[in-house]
Amino acid sequence: MKGMYTSSLKKKVAYFTMEIALDPEIHTYSGGLGVLAGDTLRSFADLEVPAVGVTQLNDEGYTRQELSDEGDQIDSKNEWEPEAYLERIPETTTVEIEDKEVKIGAWKKTVESSHHDHSVPILFLDTDLEENEDQFREITKRLYGGDQRYRLFQEIILGIGGCRILDEIGHEIETYHMNESHSSLLALELLKRHDMEEERVKDLCVFTTHTPEGAGHDRFNYDLVEEVLGDYIPVPKLKELSQEDNLHMTKLALNLSGYINAVSKRHEEVTREMFPDYSIDSITNGVHIPRWVSPSFGELYDEYISGWRKDPYKLKHAGRIPGEELWDAHSEEKSKLIEYVEKNTGIDMNDYIFTIGFARRAAPYKRANLIFHDVERLKQIAKDVGEFQVLFAGKAHPQGEMSKEMIKKVNSRIRDLREDIKMAYLENYNIELGAMMTSGVDLWLNTPERGREACGTSGMKASCNGVPQLSTLDGWWIEGHLEGVTGWKIGLDPEEKSEKADEIDAKDLYETLEEKILPKYYADKKKWIEIMKNSISFNASYYNTHRMVREYFLNAYS
Ligand SMILES: *Cc1c(COP(=O)(O)O)cnc(C)c1O
Repeated sequence: MKGMYTSSLKKKVAYFTMEIALDPEIHTYSGGLGVLAGDTLRSFADLEVPAVGVTQLNDEGYTRQELSDEGDQIDSKNEWEPEAYLERIPETTTVEIEDKEVKIGAWKKTVESSHHDHSVPILFLDTDLEENEDQFREITKRLYGGDQRYRLFQEIILGIGGCRILDEIGHEIETYHMNESHSSLLALELLKRHDMEEERVKDLCVFTTHTPEGAGHDRFNYDLVEEVLGDYIPVPKLKELSQEDNLHMTKLALNLSGYINAVSKRHEEVTREMFPDYSIDSITNGVHIPRWVSPSFGELYDEYISGWRKDPYKLKHAGRIPGEELWDAHSEEKSKLIEYVEKNTGIDMNDYIFTIGFARRAAPYKRANLIFHDVERLKQIAKDVGEFQVLFAGKAHPQGEMSKEMIKKVNSRIRDLREDIKMAYLENYNIELGAMMTSGVDLWLNTPERGREACGTSGMKASCNGVPQLSTLDGWWIEGHLEGVTGWKIGLDPEEKSEKADEIDAKDLYETLEEKILPKYYADKKKWIEIMKNSISFNASYYNTHRMVREYFLNAYS
């Protein structure tokens, strides 16, 4: 592997991301975007990629979620201590905001490769410095907090400040990779450095978009931009580089990147429809396998699939693992999860009952409540076909009223069904809980509305723990799904649209549970174990960040 990269991979990549999930104690992420960033940087380290990560400190975190008895999300700060996990570096830089100089410092965390001595530094930008006015000291504290002005301040620190601090440290960067458009302003900084030559900047920039929703793209009013950025780049020029109405951060990145990608094949199509004037490729996301494989599966793989940590492609050979040992390893993770549920919710679930898991950001398009479409039917399945229990988790954005409504609805259904089906909503979804759930349940459920999930990665975490997925055909599942082999699909084909999609999908979900899934789990364990192995050998071997990083090298960074 070493030879493969050292010749072609001298180029240094700077990976810019507003959020990153590296360690359960470092609360600098809200969801899949941050998890992807953390997993990517780990694979950079493992594959000896010369790279540096740039992010924002976010030392008040995203949000800590508690749930009231009525299912209302109660938010609080999710602080963490940079001193305990990071090291302050001496270099600083400055940017101008509202005609005032804002000083930026940074902290560093080093991600080490698990099998050789390559490491990748990650810089966490921090404006909480004595020299700065109070309002500027706040900028790097809260992930996705505050108003438009605050968000623009943050994006200036990340994009422009990030570029400048790399220079101060002496990193010679050949590729600037923007993980989502929060860092688009870096392209303006490069433009200024290169005499406003757009072609030169395009040679340097790679842009990965993650947002299939028109409304999800950051935009800033030009009056605000002018107040905040002054004459950094005149507004008429910005209009040319972005669009007329407002500073559209995705368009800015699209116009100044030489390589643009979506994060699954279906997402590539959706993105092309949204932005028909650009050349858009796709690189399907992955997960960092050694990090998401549970302890008991790690031991199993160590015994039967040597070298899997270094080269997850080897998980192709999951067929070698004796079925009983696989089952025992899974049962061990399941008991840990069930114990956690008991301890945290008081709900006493049963190790021998089929357990379904659903956990993700509480965005309404993900339809956490789809399974409750027809509660009578659900009860009848549990009574007549086979018992099952369900675990939910997921946070809403503190200002996401619709998402909070969704959480409340799910919790009220859980209460209504209390006598018939055991269900629990676990508080404060995070990467630790994510790892526990994706390895401890028997089935991973995913129900996004078609065309709205860019990729989805939690199902990949389930795959590497032998947990099959039941999902609508969207994001990566269109690629990873083989009916009855790696899991099951729900409802319509990827591009079919119907006003009755909820109804059709729910009906299909019930039928599939009733006819294909529950009977197999309870009455044909051999077949069930074969499906568990398939999800490892077909999907974990491919949907990992090692494969993904290699694709970035071949297609994006070269
Ligand atoms: C993996 C993960 C996600 C992303 O999952 P999706 O399936 O892409 O929604 C979000 N949050 C946490 C805590 C995770 O571990």
